[in-house]
Amino acid sequence: MECHPIPQRKDWYICSRKPIICPHCGEKKVRKAVLGYPTEEDFMNENIYLVGCLPDFPVERNWGCRNCDAAFFKDNKFNRGRLDMVAHRDKDGRLRLGYPDEITPESITPNEIPF
Ligand SMILES: [Zn+2]
Repeated sequence: MECHPIPQRKDWYICSRKPIICPHCGEKKVRKAVLGYPTEEDFMNENIYLVGCLPDFPVERNWGCRNCDAAFFKDNKFNRGRLDMVAHRDKDGRLRLGYPDEITPESITPNEIPF
Protein backbone atom coordinates (compact mmCIF):
# COMPACT_ATOMS: atom_id res chain seq x y z
CA MET A 1 0.00 0.00 0.00
CA GLU A 2 1.28 3.43 -0.97
CA CYS A 3 0.31 6.33 1.28
CA HIS A 4 1.98 9.71 1.02
CA PRO A 5 1.39 13.02 2.75
CA ILE A 6 0.40 15.80 0.37
CA PRO A 7 1.95 19.27 0.60
CA GLN A 8 -1.29 21.20 1.04
CA ARG A 9 -2.09 19.90 4.53
CA LYS A 10 0.02 17.94 7.01
CA ASP A 11 -2.89 15.65 7.94
CA TRP A 12 -3.93 14.87 4.34
CA TYR A 13 -2.65 11.80 2.51
CA ILE A 14 -2.98 10.30 -0.94
CA CYS A 15 -3.13 6.51 -0.87
CA SER A 16 -3.42 3.56 -3.22
CA ARG A 17 -6.09 2.09 -0.90
CA LYS A 18 -7.59 2.64 2.54
CA PRO A 19 -4.83 2.57 5.18
CA ILE A 20 -5.40 0.14 8.04
CA ILE A 21 -3.30 2.17 10.47
CA CYS A 22 -3.56 5.95 10.37
CA PRO A 23 -0.07 7.31 9.51
CA HIS A 24 -0.92 10.52 11.37
CA CYS A 25 -1.84 9.15 14.82
CA GLY A 26 -1.07 5.42 14.61
CA GLU A 27 -4.61 4.28 15.46
CA LYS A 28 -6.56 1.69 13.47
CA LYS A 29 -9.48 4.07 13.02
CA VAL A 30 -9.49 4.89 9.31
CA ARG A 31 -12.99 4.49 7.86
CA LYS A 32 -14.93 5.20 4.68
CA ALA A 33 -16.01 8.86 4.64
CA VAL A 34 -19.74 9.66 4.55
CA LEU A 35 -20.76 13.22 3.68
CA GLY A 36 -23.82 15.10 4.84
CA TYR A 37 -26.20 15.01 7.76
CA PRO A 38 -26.04 11.46 9.12
CA THR A 39 -28.95 9.16 9.74
CA GLU A 40 -29.21 8.03 13.37
CA GLU A 41 -27.94 4.63 12.25
CA ASP A 42 -24.88 6.21 10.61
CA PHE A 43 -24.31 8.43 13.63
CA MET A 44 -23.95 5.37 15.85
CA ASN A 45 -21.94 3.42 13.27
CA GLU A 46 -18.28 3.13 14.22
CA ASN A 47 -17.40 1.71 10.82
CA ILE A 48 -17.74 4.99 8.96
CA TYR A 49 -16.15 8.43 9.20
CA LEU A 50 -18.70 11.25 9.25
CA VAL A 51 -17.47 14.23 7.25
CA GLY A 52 -20.41 16.39 8.31
CA CYS A 53 -22.13 18.95 6.16
CA LEU A 54 -19.04 20.92 5.11
CA PRO A 55 -17.31 19.01 2.33
CA ASP A 56 -13.55 18.99 1.97
CA PHE A 57 -12.21 21.41 -0.62
CA PRO A 58 -11.21 21.07 -3.45
CA VAL A 59 -12.25 17.42 -3.37
CA GLU A 60 -13.95 15.22 -0.81
CA ARG A 61 -11.89 12.71 1.13
CA ASN A 62 -12.46 9.01 0.48
CA TRP A 63 -11.60 7.96 4.02
CA GLY A 64 -11.11 9.70 7.34
CA CYS A 65 -9.52 8.85 10.68
CA ARG A 66 -12.09 8.71 13.49
CA ASN A 67 -9.35 9.45 16.01
CA CYS A 68 -7.48 12.45 14.56
CA ASP A 69 -9.57 13.56 11.53
CA ALA A 70 -6.73 12.95 9.07
CA ALA A 71 -8.02 12.81 5.49
CA PHE A 72 -7.18 10.12 2.92
CA PHE A 73 -7.70 10.46 -0.81
CA LYS A 74 -7.60 7.59 -3.28
CA ASP A 75 -4.66 7.99 -5.65
CA ASN A 76 -6.30 8.54 -9.03
CA LYS A 77 -6.21 11.16 -11.75
CA PHE A 78 -9.44 12.80 -10.59
CA ASN A 79 -8.29 13.32 -7.00
CA ARG A 80 -4.75 14.35 -7.98
CA GLY A 81 -6.09 16.88 -10.46
CA ARG A 82 -8.42 18.41 -7.89
CA LEU A 83 -5.85 18.46 -5.10
CA ASP A 84 -3.27 20.07 -7.39
CA MET A 85 -5.93 22.59 -8.53
CA VAL A 86 -5.16 21.76 -12.13
CA ALA A 87 -7.48 23.06 -14.83
CA HIS A 88 -7.44 22.25 -18.53
CA ARG A 89 -9.52 22.85 -21.64
CA ASP A 90 -11.34 19.91 -23.17
CA LYS A 91 -11.55 19.34 -26.92
CA ASP A 92 -14.53 21.72 -27.13
CA GLY A 93 -12.60 24.47 -25.36
CA ARG A 94 -14.50 24.23 -22.07
CA LEU A 95 -12.57 24.72 -18.85
CA ARG A 96 -12.43 21.54 -16.75
CA LEU A 97 -10.96 20.84 -13.34
CA GLY A 98 -8.39 18.08 -12.98
CA TYR A 99 -5.89 16.53 -15.32
CA PRO A 100 -6.98 15.92 -18.92
CA ASP A 101 -7.42 12.37 -20.20
CA GLU A 102 -4.94 13.11 -22.95
CA ILE A 103 -2.16 15.65 -22.66
CA THR A 104 -2.15 18.00 -25.64
CA PRO A 105 -0.28 21.32 -26.03
CA GLU A 106 -3.60 23.20 -25.79
CA SER A 107 -4.72 21.37 -22.66
CA ILE A 108 -1.63 22.17 -20.61
CA THR A 109 -1.33 25.84 -21.52
CA PRO A 110 -4.51 27.44 -20.21
CA ASN A 111 -4.85 31.06 -21.33
CA GLU A 112 -6.79 32.23 -18.32
CA ILE A 113 -6.73 31.58 -14.59
CA PRO A 114 -10.09 30.14 -13.51
CA PHE A 115 -9.95 31.01 -9.82
ZN1 LIG B 1 -5.49 9.26 12.88
